[in-house]
Amino acid sequence: MKVHQLSWTYKKKDKLDFRNLSRFECPPHFCKHFTMSERNMKSNMHSLLEHVSIFTVYNLFDTEEKAVKFATEVGLLPHPDDSPKPPCPQCGAECKVTRDKNKKLGFFYTCTKNNTEMCTGTVRPTVGTFFEGSKISIKDALTIIVAFVYKMRVSDLIQHLTNIRKSAGQKTVSPETIVDYYSYLREVAEVYSSHNSRLLGGPELSSKAEE
Ligand SMILES: [Zn+2]
Repeated sequence: MKVHQLSWTYKKKDKLDFRNLSRFECPPHFCKHFTMSERNMKSNMHSLLEHVSIFTVYNLFDTEEKAVKFATEVGLLPHPDDSPKPPCPQCGAECKVTRDKNKKLGFFYTCTKNNTEMCTGTVRPTVGTFFEGSKISIKDALTIIVAFVYKMRVSDLIQHLTNIRKSAGQKTVSPETIVDYYSYLREVAEVYSSHNSRLLGGPELSSKAEE
């Protein structure tokens, strides 16, 4: 089905209304006759990100706990209560959450047949997420992401992050890791933009009238 009319009005400024025919009697913000789909354009931005900047990001996630909580709330990381749990890599049975303060997220998954059949299968909760295989803390990763979004040059980021670490007496993040992260983020941005251009164009969602 082709889109005939695309409607937007300030009254419902977060909505885009796709219609397969126009009906002049209907007000611009509502047509019950020919609506195909109404898309909510409101971003689901986390309140912490509304005024985030390169200057504030480091304080915003000043502890790893805060960074993990944020990443979980925006869906970048799984919550221990999420279900279903991943399957055991050894026997395929469902896993269960096992708390462990020494783990990156404070928990990991262990096989439910751990006690009965002595299965030793475990799964790291970062598997399949953006942070899988990441050697740095979630806090550092979020800082690098914000710098990337604000188009900070990678050489500047390395310098600033090294300085801020040294002044706090902390271990510095290696320049290679930061460069790797930037190229990873560039890939993510490329994939995102290619998906998005398909969403806005293409035969299904053309805003040109189809007679
Ligand atoms: Zn198992």
